[in-house]
Amino acid sequence: MPRIRVNLKGKPSDYGLHPWIFRDRVKGVIGQGFEAAVYVKGKFFGSAFYNPEGKLALRFYSRDEEDFTAGLVYSRIKRARYEREKILGFKNAYRLFFAEADNMPGIIADVYGRGAVIQISSYGADKLRREIVEGFRMAGYRWLYEKSDSYARRQEGLEPYEGWHFYDEEISHVWVEINGLKFRVPIGGQKTGMYLDQRLNWEIVGRTMRGRSRVLDAFSYTGGFTLHLLKYGVEKVVAIDEDGDALGILRENVEANGFHKKTVETFTANVFDMLDSFLLAHERFDGIVLDPPAFAKGRNVSGARRGYFTLFDRALRLLDEGGLLAVFSCSRHIGFDLLEGEMTRAAKRLLREVKILYKLHQSPDHPVPVYFPDAEYLRGFLAIVY
Ligand code: SAH
Repeated sequence: MPRIRVNLKGKPSDYGLHPWIFRDRVKGVIGQGFEAAVYVKGKFFGSAFYNPEGKLALRFYSRDEEDFTAGLVYSRIKRARYEREKILGFKNAYRLFFAEADNMPGIIADVYGRGAVIQISSYGADKLRREIVEGFRMAGYRWLYEKSDSYARRQEGLEPYEGWHFYDEEISHVWVEINGLKFRVPIGGQKTGMYLDQRLNWEIVGRTMRGRSRVLDAFSYTGGFTLHLLKYGVEKVVAIDEDGDALGILRENVEANGFHKKTVETFTANVFDMLDSFLLAHERFDGIVLDPPAFAKGRNVSGARRGYFTLFDRALRLLDEGGLLAVFSCSRHIGFDLLEGEMTRAAKRLLREVKILYKLHQSPDHPVPVYFPDAEYLRGFLAIVY
């Protein structure tokens, strides 16, 4: 692979180990290609993917002078596996590569049993897909599926891509075990198949809501929260999602774990509409989970503010005295301050007392490098409401 040389303006300490360099910091480019040796003040500074078009010019994959080869991908897999399996104790299903956080710019990989689903959203990684696929083969994975449909791809000038890279048996059903529960993973479904970033929160919410009589799981997908609530003895869960296929899998998951199917009621519907109908029908819950999709894709968060205010207002009206409320946001532009602010506004109008018991984050297989705080995107809290 022909390597190019990119010289940066300024001095090394201007940059630290931030994984990105924008075009306005580039002094000069020698050669053509998408793997660059980066220099500052004449000294080697790192190896990076180079995008000749985008505003985001360089994304570092190494601080050593090395090509992005299948061998490099293989060694990254080994290190990431060690962190997730040996340190975190995760098995069977976890996020193996969390892009920049694992020095794999724009590359996400979620492991499900003996295979993995990857998502590529950087220009360089898209061009070097062959090396990535080969790295997974070298590491012994039995199947590899790619689901590259993220919003970030468009910003790098890439079209969506989806399909199998390899498999050794026809795979339509993949089952994994998380926190002692079995889940069917729809390969080719939403995201990489599951929202693994919630795995610790499933457990915390389930444990705290243990034994409750009627809990609402709004935006349930395939039932991460529902199954954990059932595991902790919740008598009845009402799950809502607009994705009917996901709810079909949720019901399959309920039965596969030996819970009676009558313990769960599912509604294929818009959550906002359903909350209004529950209010009209005077329905009550002693626990509510709200885990909506990202309400803000960019910096404009006013729509998200309104969305959260409405959800909080409805949830507070539907909750019994002493009810528990768990709420999440998976948009990096929405901080705790916005969530708490909207919660306070809604609570004030209804004169309800709300106490935050837990502040919640993405699971640790989605780590946040200190040089790259943007990697933090999932925030939530679990509160008790009187
Ligand atoms: N709680 C899930 C993840 C939820 S992701 C888990 O822990 O696994 C967000 C979900 O919201 C998706 O399944 C999507 O289909 C659903 N969704 C998005 N907008 C919706 C709406 N307005 N009404 C109902 N469901 C919606």
